[in-house]
Amino acid sequence: EQNDRESMFIVNEWAADYFSDVLLNDVDGRAVGMQYFRSRGFRDDIIQKFRLGFALPSRTAMSNTATLKGYKEEYLVKTGLCYRRDGGELSDRYAGRVIFPWINVSGKVCAFGGRLLDSRTKGVQQKYVNSPDSDIYHKERELYGIYQAKRAIAKEDLVYMVEGYTDVISMHQCGIENVVANSGTALSVHQIRILRRFTANIVLLYDGDAAGIHAAMRGTDMLLAEGMNVKVLLLPDGEDPDSFARNHSASGFREYIEEHQTDFIEFKTNIMLRGVTDPIKRSEAINSIVKSVSVINDQIVRATYIKDCAHRLGINEATLISTMNKFIRSGK
Ligand code: ATP
Ligand code: MN
Ligand code: MN
Ligand code: MN
Repeated sequence: EQNDRESMFIVNEWAADYFSDVLLNDVDGRAVGMQYFRSRGFRDDIIQKFRLGFALPSRTAMSNTATLKGYKEEYLVKTGLCYRRDGGELSDRYAGRVIFPWINVSGKVCAFGGRLLDSRTKGVQQKYVNSPDSDIYHKERELYGIYQAKRAIAKEDLVYMVEGYTDVISMHQCGIENVVANSGTALSVHQIRILRRFTANIVLLYDGDAAGIHAAMRGTDMLLAEGMNVKVLLLPDGEDPDSFARNHSASGFREYIEEHQTDFIEFKTNIMLRGVTDPIKRSEAINSIVKSVSVINDQIVRATYIKDCAHRLGINEATLISTMNKFIRSGK
């Protein structure tokens, strides 16, 4: 079991080097993969720092090389680098894609993401393909970029949470290194506890589309329950941190965040109550907001928020407090 995990890390480490070598040195790797990263404006130092790579289009290129080097099929399959077709033969999962290795908090390659580069096949194939969960990778527990970001997160005492790989990479390139991505899934308590080792301050920096709003709403209660201070910033519609970082300096981006971030309660109130006049719907929304406050452990922080909400919502403070206490007593 433990040996299995070690063997899986070893084959992943080899594969990351292999994909990187293809990207940097292979004729097709350079013409296709490198050309793609260049078109996105990624610099060489950033490509190396994130160990980006390219998987040749042949469905057996990587696995043939791996087996020649003595890596066992068993581990190629267990890591998800390959899968078995109906007939049982091996197929490389990321063939023809640019590669984003997931490096865990201790610096080990635990998974890969592969991005399609040919827009003609979009809609037929998924834009991103990820390693399946395995003994060394539980998608909901990992944070993309944590290894490259952890020192900066501790130093700045702040983490920016973004949606995607390219958001993390472009922000580093622009000079902002305290950033990780949760890859478009809901935040989990495991991810929050990893971050909590480095800071209690988080800004959710999500795409300005419906998916971004949804992600921000889903994440907050758990963050609060874990004692994080949560701010939210949705970028203008059509932008994501990647596009934003390419058009701003680090200080310009940071200033924009400082100016436009909102406290989570303000954010939630704005989203949930905007244009809602129906008394029953309003009451539901207010209950949900108060419920968010109720998960905060610190009594003084809770009291401050309740005061704030009473003011913002135009509702008697005592009413909100008794509602909150009901949530606290019922424990949910
Ligand atoms: P790009 O700029 O390359 O188009 P993005 O990061 O802006 O990519 P989004 O569509 O905003 O892409 O998705 C955010 C993140 O969610 C991705 O970076 C990826 O980690 C994850 N993701 C998106 N689609 C998928 C998918 N089909 N399967 C697995 N993960 C996905
Ligand atoms: Mn999006
Ligand atoms: Mn995006
Ligand atoms: Mn993008």
